[in-house]
Amino acid sequence: MTAAPPLRIAIAGAGSSGMLLAILLERQGHQVSLFERAAAPRTEGCGILLVSAGVRAVAEAGVPGLAERLIAAGQPVRSYHFRNLLGGTINVAEADQAPHELPSLLIHRTAILETLWGELGPGLFHGGCAVESCHQDGAGVRLGLADGLGWEGDLLIGADGIFSQAAAAAVAPERHLNYLGDRVWRGVVPDDGFCQEGEFFVYARGRGIYANFFHLGPDAEGVARTHWGFFNEEELPVDRGEQRRLLQEPIPAEALAKLSAQAAAVIASTPPERVVANWSFDLDPLPRLVKGRIGLIGDAAHAMSSSQARGMTAGLEDAVYLARALANTPGDPTEALRVYGAERLPVVHDYQFRSREVSNRIGRSRRPHNQRPEPVAV
Ligand SMILES: Cc1cc2nc3c(=O)[nH]c(=O)nc-3n(C[C@H](O)[C@H](O)[C@H](O)COP(=O)(O)OP(=O)(O)OC[C@H]3O[C@@H](n4cnc5c(N)ncnc54)[C@H](O)[C@@H]3O)c2cc1C
Repeated sequence: MTAAPPLRIAIAGAGSSGMLLAILLERQGHQVSLFERAAAPRTEGCGILLVSAGVRAVAEAGVPGLAERLIAAGQPVRSYHFRNLLGGTINVAEADQAPHELPSLLIHRTAILETLWGELGPGLFHGGCAVESCHQDGAGVRLGLADGLGWEGDLLIGADGIFSQAAAAAVAPERHLNYLGDRVWRGVVPDDGFCQEGEFFVYARGRGIYANFFHLGPDAEGVARTHWGFFNEEELPVDRGEQRRLLQEPIPAEALAKLSAQAAAVIASTPPERVVANWSFDLDPLPRLVKGRIGLIGDAAHAMSSSQARGMTAGLEDAVYLARALANTPGDPTEALRVYGAERLPVVHDYQFRSREVSNRIGRSRRPHNQRPEPVAV
């Protein structure tokens, strides 16, 4: 029996989902091109709670030492503290990790992306190369890239995030983003007093705000850090220019004043360049993840609210499932994609429904959570 020839696979988007997939497919011997809109890998960001399932997905990907390097770069969660806005304790829950389980990690996004980047073979990454158009037929896929460049090959995987071009153009043009009701600021600040090792604080939603804080461990210089997120309920301006302008503004003083003085002081001490802001959206569950030779992974497939801290984990799992489907179906890439889509769709729908349910319960979304579209044939 002769081995199946390597496939030419394009991945749009070098976030955590696209980068892990590129690593895994390159290790299978495929010719991988990782096209990224930004000139360099976008390793910036804030803290992430990478739940145990996400660490397990990386461990099961089978790249020697990768999960160990991630674990070394993060802090295991030890306890969740639920507080009212004045800082009074509502409840404390220990993070009960069974001895055989991998830890849930408090980790900087930069550490995750840089760990993945360290595994990526030379020549795969093409920065400043946005995928602008894609066409497929029985023989293959053709991409139009920025600067008039092009690419032809066997498969395209859209890992291009919540505003996915691949999803909108080729897989699910009917996709709908749902505004969750908050302007969100996140930051990382040098701090060694507010959260102790492994602590995650949740300030219960009330008076139009919600906040969380967690310990991020030391930076490269050994300085302890705290991550925070602050959510302010606001109408989304209709005008896109106004949306962008408001994301450059600091948290309104009257909103910050609703939080306990100690917690507000941690936020206020953050240098502006270490703060990122966005409007909160999730994606209505898609009817399909795959169409022919084009598949979706990560936020492109199922962007969800941060209420369950599942977003990055789900994208890492997608990458591992898709790589496995391709390895198990040599010589038939469209069948491999079909299997991936059929296996993964109900799983990610469940994540999306659960995260919407929690958002609804804590008042962050006004959209019914039980709108499950009927999957359609790919
Ligand atoms: C406030 C907030 C808090 C969160 N907290 C958590 C948490 O605690 N735990 C957790 O697991 N998840 C969390 N998430 C979700 C998590 O950050 C995302 O699910 C995850 O980063 C998505 O990774 P991705 O690789 O799929 O997409 P992205 O990281 O968005 O990467 C997409 C990449 O595609 C590129 N791109 C876009 N368009 C194109 C194009 N046309 N051509 C080429 N490249 C393109 C972009 O530049 C980008 O580099 C949070 C999200 C938010 C907003």
